[in-house]
Amino acid sequence: MNEEIALVTGGAGFIGSHLCEYLLNKGFKVICADNLSTGSEKNIEKLRTNEDFKFLKKDVRDDLEIKEKINYIFDMASRASPKDFKDYPIDILTTNGFGVFNLLNLAEKNNAKFLFSSTSEIYGDPKEHPQKETYCGNVNTLGIRGCYDEAKRFAEAMTMAYVREKNVDARIIRIFNTYGPRLNEYDGRVISNFITQALRNEPITVYGDGNQTRSFCYVSDMVEGIYKAMMEGKKGDVYNLGGEDEYKILDIASKIKELTSTNSNIVFKELPEDDPRIRKPNIGKAKKYLNWEPIINLEDGLKKTIEYFKNEI
Ligand code: UDP
Repeated sequence: MNEEIALVTGGAGFIGSHLCEYLLNKGFKVICADNLSTGSEKNIEKLRTNEDFKFLKKDVRDDLEIKEKINYIFDMASRASPKDFKDYPIDILTTNGFGVFNLLNLAEKNNAKFLFSSTSEIYGDPKEHPQKETYCGNVNTLGIRGCYDEAKRFAEAMTMAYVREKNVDARIIRIFNTYGPRLNEYDGRVISNFITQALRNEPITVYGDGNQTRSFCYVSDMVEGIYKAMMEGKKGDVYNLGGEDEYKILDIASKIKELTSTNSNIVFKELPEDDPRIRKPNIGKAKKYLNWEPIINLEDGLKKTIEYFKNEI
């Protein structure tokens, strides 16, 4: 029996809740902290009866008041949806500022291993393609996405400061577009929007001309990568985690139309400000050092996600 305790902040969110489940299955005791700003109790409903699971409705910017000795901290706490960049920029900046500061201090106090969840957004509208961890990015600090991009860049710098100055055993992952069950329907993200629109036979909203690209990773693959980064990733190192197959957004719309047999039409809407034109990770480092790569292909992952949303809406 594994008596180690893992703290997952943002544990009631989309990726966080899958991570809690995964860690419980591995035999960890899990403390899930979430302020439920975007996460939901429904995401962790099934875990509540597990005696190794504890939920704290707390904000990472406050003292989490944890008495137990923690062995691992997975920091997944942050709004991450482009829709929230407009409505909650200060919340995003402070969660990744004061919040990450608090959690790094907690890691130091507990001598715990720490993993910070950063994002592909730190690359901005990239001038290097695919993006490697060594690429420093092309970010508009003043633009609508600046609150998220710069918050995560600041938090990466903070994490490295704790590695260098306080010798905290921390690593960073950069999460690229991820999808699967428990994506928040109201998040405004492309996969959840397209699937829910298709299932309701409403117009499928492609922003811009749909030629912008993204590559997608199914959530179970992402969680496996996060775990490996914590366990096998080196202190002070950074790993891209994401899918390698790059798709035009318009092709994603057509694929979802086909898989749902919907009557929906595709309609074109205005492209949001600073929307990255292309995005695809180079995951060579995770392959080599974490022995990780995604195994679920887009069609299978979309089918599972469509099944989930059929029961939700
Ligand atoms: N997008 C779209 N229609 C939607 C939602 C998103 O065409 O209903 C586009 C969006 O402009 C972006 C891509 O899909 O180019 C991915 O958007 P998402 O919000 O999922 O994540 P991002 O990669 O922008 O963080």
